[in-house]
Amino acid sequence: MTTDYDAIIVGGGPSGATAGAVLARAGWRIAIVEKMSYPRRKVCGEFISGTTWPLLQRLGVAGPLQELAGPPVRRVGLYADAAMITAELTSLAAGAEYSGRAVRREHLDTLLLRSAALAGADVWQPYTLSAFVARPGGYECTISDKATGQIRSLQSRLMVAAHGSWESGPLPTQDFRRVPSASDLFGFKTHFRNASLPPDLMPLLSFPGGYGGMVQIDDGRVSLSCCIRRDRLARCRQQWPNEKAGAAVLEHLRSSCTGVALALSAATLDGEWLSAGPLRTGIRTFGHAGIFTVGNAAAEAHPIVAEGVSMAIQSAALLCEQLITRLDVRSSLYAPSHLLERIRYDYALAWRRNFSRRLYIAALFAQLFMRPLPTRVATRVLQYFPRLLTAGARWSGKSEPLRISRQVDALPR
Ligand SMILES: Cc1cc2nc3c(=O)[nH]c(=O)nc-3n(C[C@H](O)[C@H](O)[C@H](O)COP(=O)(O)OP(=O)(O)OC[C@H]3O[C@@H](n4cnc5c(N)ncnc54)[C@H](O)[C@@H]3O)c2cc1C
Repeated sequence: MTTDYDAIIVGGGPSGATAGAVLARAGWRIAIVEKMSYPRRKVCGEFISGTTWPLLQRLGVAGPLQELAGPPVRRVGLYADAAMITAELTSLAAGAEYSGRAVRREHLDTLLLRSAALAGADVWQPYTLSAFVARPGGYECTISDKATGQIRSLQSRLMVAAHGSWESGPLPTQDFRRVPSASDLFGFKTHFRNASLPPDLMPLLSFPGGYGGMVQIDDGRVSLSCCIRRDRLARCRQQWPNEKAGAAVLEHLRSSCTGVALALSAATLDGEWLSAGPLRTGIRTFGHAGIFTVGNAAAEAHPIVAEGVSMAIQSAALLCEQLITRLDVRSSLYAPSHLLERIRYDYALAWRRNFSRRLYIAALFAQLFMRPLPTRVATRVLQYFPRLLTAGARWSGKSEPLRISRQVDALPR
């Protein structure tokens, strides 16, 4: 592998692998640096909206992923206290080629990263990118082999930060440290066998101090993921002192949500609980001076809408559209800083046009469904007007195709 690139991408999750695949297909010399060995499990509800599948198809991974995915999700629901309300999601997908489906992150991330490698990207894995500094015309990066500790240096014209948002680190795009607060959210996820969740249903779980979701993945297994506030998590740990954090959260979920208790009454755990956080939702940065951010590194919506993977993949497509159409990689001339700034500005604009509403709706739903009183009111209303659930899914972006202005090979039309 070479050490001189047009762009180095930090992180090989959905956003980084997508950016790598699209840019490499356009003839860019790309390195993706991913610190974990794949396949690896990841905190995530694993649902992929129908609107993202056309892009996965153009990346050549939709076919194999559909083989590995859970059944099409055609209904949304709300499990809160004793209420179990469901509504159709199908009308949202009218005319759409794909329904939303859940895919294990082990499969999704592995296939996407392989697609980038097949397109010609160099994948440095498991390597950690620990620093990058500006040099004339680009950046100098330090990467270290996680297995041997060997250090290497890579050069590139541009940097794409796709390192997610749940870990602080030394990179300028990675400083998420804040003073701990009671309202900090932590994410949990696990899989179950023998759960009795209807195959076409994805219920939102509402419980005091948190929210979550359940959906069928492959082989009849169910993926359960949730977010819980720091103060409520501490109370769960006190209430169930002999349980690990994930198990204590599950006890809280079972005791406050009849739908979860029923669905899991005969279920057994399939794998360990995973946890992540604290989550920092909202817009962070779109980059500066030849550094661009995609996926969670740019911004993060409350996972209550299960749109993070879609936004990660789609935001990478939006950035690539700007880069490919505005920069000539064959030219030995480096892009002037005002052009890079213009690209960043237009990417940020396209990002906001596509995702801002999703971000605000997710924040609104999260605040509503983590609190018992507003949840009780919402549940009453939804019992009379279940189609509001369908509308809620639409407001959160489940039916909105990516608005992309130019035509670039490997991007969705
Ligand atoms: C509880 C919960 C449930 C969720 N459920 C859903 C859902 O159902 N549907 C959905 O669409 N979204 C969901 N999400 C959100 C989704 O998981 C994220 O939005 C998505 O993973 C973001 O993708 P990404 O590529 O930006 O980052 P990530 O997936 O976090 O990938 C970043 C990658 O960068 C690597 N990395 C980090 N630092 C470095 C470094 N210095 N050097 C090298 N590599 C590095 C990491 O190892 C990682 O592989 C959920 C989130 C939570 C917390």
